[in-house]
Amino acid sequence: MPPFVETMKPRERVLAALARQPVDRPPVCNPTNVATVDLMDMVDSYFPDANRDPELNARLAITGHTELGFDSVAPYFTIIQESSALGCEMQWEGKDNWPTVRMSKPIWKGPQDIKIPADILKHRDMMAITDSIKILRQELGNDVAIVGKTMGPWTLAYHVFGVEKFLLMSIDDPDKTMECMDKLKELSVLFGNAQLDAGADALTFPDHATGDLVSGAYYKRFLLELHQEMAERIKAPLILHICGSTLDRLDYIAQSNMAAFHFDSKNDPAKAMEIAKGRIALVGNLNNPSTLYARGPKEVREEVFRCMDAGVDMIAPECAIPLATKLENLLEIPRAVRAWMQQHPKNGATIKS
Ligand SMILES: [Zn+2]
Repeated sequence: MPPFVETMKPRERVLAALARQPVDRPPVCNPTNVATVDLMDMVDSYFPDANRDPELNARLAITGHTELGFDSVAPYFTIIQESSALGCEMQWEGKDNWPTVRMSKPIWKGPQDIKIPADILKHRDMMAITDSIKILRQELGNDVAIVGKTMGPWTLAYHVFGVEKFLLMSIDDPDKTMECMDKLKELSVLFGNAQLDAGADALTFPDHATGDLVSGAYYKRFLLELHQEMAERIKAPLILHICGSTLDRLDYIAQSNMAAFHFDSKNDPAKAMEIAKGRIALVGNLNNPSTLYARGPKEVREEVFRCMDAGVDMIAPECAIPLATKLENLLEIPRAVRAWMQQHPKNGATIKS
């Protein structure tokens, strides 16, 4: 059997997959974080500073390509940059832990409080990302895809109002909830477009209307039209990210006009592909806690194969990986994709045509 030969550059491959065009093989493209403590040690760039300093950020982000061999890099590791810039109380934590927003101390109560500072893009936690993207583009040229990230209004609302209070508001007063969304979405557009100006190719759009917290009907009521508007106003492919069980809302998500949906391992990849019906690309959905974190390369390969068998468009961990994830498991992901291609020669260059 002739060896599988790659004919596309990483960035070209990612952009083609996002456009649901033919690819030589599905890209390994992570919409969320793949930085680990091992990678931090390797380049001497640690949390929390790697989230706040553009040079440290770029140095850590680039390892997703240079060390792991992924087709993309993703410099926005967390979900807190905008919330910090809005003035939320932060817990920055140490080198091996995630910075978080103290949601027990919300800064706002309702739509009347929402004010996005005119100079918010100049806040250090916003510039850490935009300036890092400029550095990464310079260092990677046009070969590797840069995936930025701008938080959706639903997630921002959790941070500024507190999860419980915001969800209660959504039950008590849907109109007031929409008013909050309409104000907060302007920050999603602003930061998203700033990252594109800096050189990002695509943006992850996390908006945690997750299956554990809200129903599929909620997604349709509060977010479907808003996401369509985001896809229109932000001028690059968007990758919607929602964790948890999402099959009950995937039909709506497929109508969001976003380029791709980053989905959780709680959803069977074959079933997800069946619902998506080619209307949106799917990216995922390797399990983090029980496979990438706790098992070995053999189990990682099995899961990659399951996604490849299902025809998942881009292969990636389901969400931000635990910071202590073993390198050998991450290195196995692109290896397994190539091994699958080698075993399925007919699916080569024309896998989707
Ligand atoms: Zn997630």
